[in-house]
Amino acid sequence: MRAIVFDGSLRCVADRPTPARRDADVLIRVHLAGLCATDLEITRGYMDFAGVPGHEFVGTVEEGPDALRGKRVVGEINCVCGKCDLCTGGLANHCRSRTVLGIAGRDGAFADFLALPAVNCHIVPPELSDEEAVFVEPLAAAIQITRQVKLEPKLRVTVLGSGRLGTLVAQVLASRGCRPVVVGRNPETLGRLDRRGIQTALVRDVQRFGDQDLVVDCTGSPEGASLALKFVRPRGTIVMKSTCAAAVPLDLAPLVVNEVTLLGSRCGPFPEAIAALVRREVEVRSMIQRQFPLSRGLEAFETASKPGSLKILVKAGA
Ligand SMILES: [Zn+2]
Ligand SMILES: [Zn+2]
Repeated sequence: MRAIVFDGSLRCVADRPTPARRDADVLIRVHLAGLCATDLEITRGYMDFAGVPGHEFVGTVEEGPDALRGKRVVGEINCVCGKCDLCTGGLANHCRSRTVLGIAGRDGAFADFLALPAVNCHIVPPELSDEEAVFVEPLAAAIQITRQVKLEPKLRVTVLGSGRLGTLVAQVLASRGCRPVVVGRNPETLGRLDRRGIQTALVRDVQRFGDQDLVVDCTGSPEGASLALKFVRPRGTIVMKSTCAAAVPLDLAPLVVNEVTLLGSRCGPFPEAIAALVRREVEVRSMIQRQFPLSRGLEAFETASKPGSLKILVKAGA
């Protein structure tokens, strides 16, 4: 099959073996896959991943149990053992021996086919197009914040970063009654958020610091944490969503002195993300900047890595 492969360098191949199904896997023919910051970080060495990247997808189950065969699905990316202390303790997403689609130990979605456990699959309702369904994974990750932090309309909330994830997070927070301000560097992406009715500010124009109840880092940059520490108020909360290959020194003294709560945040609930899209609480179609066929996957990566780029999709079967 065709695939985009990373093994120190990124290339498009036509002779990648179709992934072997492990015990409870289904084989999925990929329709569309989304590129996110994590994929770009993988090409910089994040997770030391080698193989087919890509973890945001929609596709059709070709081989698997009757209940799923022929169905259009999206899939949770953590493939877990079900037996370890974390799996049995309700923290299966943190399974000690997990593989993660396109990120750790398992080939991902920038390919004609992928294999994923049947239990990870969620059937896509007919109301959602492929172009919407491909956002379920990152939207679920945005919704995860609402499970970790008690949101109230009166909270002062800043989202750092006006890119792909920042746009989803701001929409999710707004749908829960908050009025987030998105702070970024790129006037163009901030302008798009303005047109959605979300308040924005250029980071260089911000005058007041240390007064935000909640700061969500969606910068995708290793500097996001220190910027978040500037914005948050004493006893406030920072949620970190950026995963970066590079590590930078971080002065934690302000965290201690200001008694700040720092939360890491990763994958989230798929059923809630599907429901939010069906209810049109979050709008994603206008976030799509461009689609590339799988055979032009390298251009897709190049385009997604340009500052201010929004969602780039890779279309398999094309
Ligand atoms: Zn992602
Ligand atoms: Zn486990």
